[in-house]
Amino acid sequence: TEGLDEEAHVVVVGGGPGGSTLATLIAMRGHRVVLLEKEKFPRWQIGESLLPSTVHGICRLTGVADELAKAGFTKKHGGTMRWGSNPEPWTFSFSVSPRIANETSHAYQVERSRFDQILLDHARHMGVDVREQHTVVDVMDSDGRVRGVTYTDAEGTRGTIRAKYVVDASGNKSRIHQRVGAAREYSEFFRSLALFGYFEGGKRLPEPNSGNILCAAFDSGWFWYIPLSPTLTSVGAVVRRELADRIQGDPEEALTSLIAECPLITEYLQGATRVTEGQYGQLRVRKDYSYANTRFWRPGMALIGDAACFIDPIFSSGVHLATYGALLAARSINSVLAQAVDEDTAFREFEERYRREYSAFHDFLVSFYNLHVDEASYFWSAKKVTDSTGSELESFVSLVGGVSSGEAALATKQGLVQRYKSQSSEFAAAVDELARSAEPSILPLMRASVVKNAMQEGANEQIRAHLGSDIGPETPLFDGGLIASPDGLSWSPPA
Ligand code: FAD
Repeated sequence: TEGLDEEAHVVVVGGGPGGSTLATLIAMRGHRVVLLEKEKFPRWQIGESLLPSTVHGICRLTGVADELAKAGFTKKHGGTMRWGSNPEPWTFSFSVSPRIANETSHAYQVERSRFDQILLDHARHMGVDVREQHTVVDVMDSDGRVRGVTYTDAEGTRGTIRAKYVVDASGNKSRIHQRVGAAREYSEFFRSLALFGYFEGGKRLPEPNSGNILCAAFDSGWFWYIPLSPTLTSVGAVVRRELADRIQGDPEEALTSLIAECPLITEYLQGATRVTEGQYGQLRVRKDYSYANTRFWRPGMALIGDAACFIDPIFSSGVHLATYGALLAARSINSVLAQAVDEDTAFREFEERYRREYSAFHDFLVSFYNLHVDEASYFWSAKKVTDSTGSELESFVSLVGGVSSGEAALATKQGLVQRYKSQSSEFAAAVDELARSAEPSILPLMRASVVKNAMQEGANEQIRAHLGSDIGPETPLFDGGLIASPDGLSWSPPA
């Protein structure tokens, strides 16, 4: 049957973290956004270990950060790695990055069915027209421009929505990504397979690291061990492509033998039982997940998240890249719809920033897979690929915390800046109060604006001292490029 023919400013395809974030950021500027999601939520998804840039940076911008904080997800303060030439596990903590404020120096380990539901419900709450069980079949285009989508709903009714922009956020199984007129290029380097499942009753790292992701390299690859709750653990083996036949047969046997190869994971799973029912009940395999599209946009259409690119499960960059791509695309769309920036300039900024972040992770991860060196060498690589002025360890933590780009919207210190500013105005008020009750002889001095200015400047110094020197007006990331608007939701020409 033929359904409706409707119109919107923007159609978003897919309600994962990329899609719901982008839809929210565009609806916040008052545009009509329809989000079409194939499944009925909650639905299972992999990608459970998150970064501070997502949960405190982008989720603060969309307004969902406080709700996430209340959801009771495991707090992840960093990572613990049995990796490289060091035989002992080593731990990094997000708090080492000068771009991550103390009270935000954690991320969450999330059950994606709940996390994605919270973000999608929030999008609805912010005015996005969310429709589940709507599968996008194709995009409509004419005269070199994408102009909408065709979909089928749960009853099999076909409909069309015409729109100024279509954003493909439909993940790795996207059927429409090639409609930007480019192809996915698969990585020659990251050609691994992942085999994963869930366990009840696994061991935890000692405090304060019990919420950390644990990664353990062994001969055939490496394991992730993600504490989703005090008792539930997500466990996955990432194995080299040449060993594919090891997991072709019975997955249960394959996982058991891989675990037996890795003493640390064997120890942590002693006495644990594999979950065999519900959303966590099956063992799953993923392969061919490392790729990038050769273009991220064309007139009327953009790709974000796994529809655009994904590198590798190590260091949890997937949801970070999806939500960061969402922010960049939303800024471009908001700017063009407001006729503030022309389409070509706005979307070049989107693609350049997105690729820069992708490349930083990609190039760093290539060096991270060299297992013959120790962590000092990994930290050095992070400093090199991010071109950072900080120490090697700081550069590493900023990169794997998702804040190496220097984007104010991601650097979780912004919340702290606000706090210092309000503290300094409280301080100024206290000076006023003191002036009222002070000795008449010092009154003129107390009232002089120079004192207040000095105090204000002192507060700014304090901010700089705590947060590093790079606090101040945004500068373009690229020559002749754009900067984020003060609210972070669109682009402005540089001052
Ligand atoms: P998705 O989360 O895939 O959401 C896409 C949505 O689009 C889905 O809900 C889907 O139902 C919907 N959809 C699909 N087709 C259509 C259609 N035609 N019409 C309408 N809707 C549609 N990332 C991390 O951050 N941390 C990790 O620890 C991590 N571990 C990983 C481990 C493995 C083995 C792999 C392969 C990936 C891992 N990732 C991790 C990556 C992470 O899973 C993804 O990067 C992330 O889920 C991408 O989010 P997204 O919003 O782009 O897409």
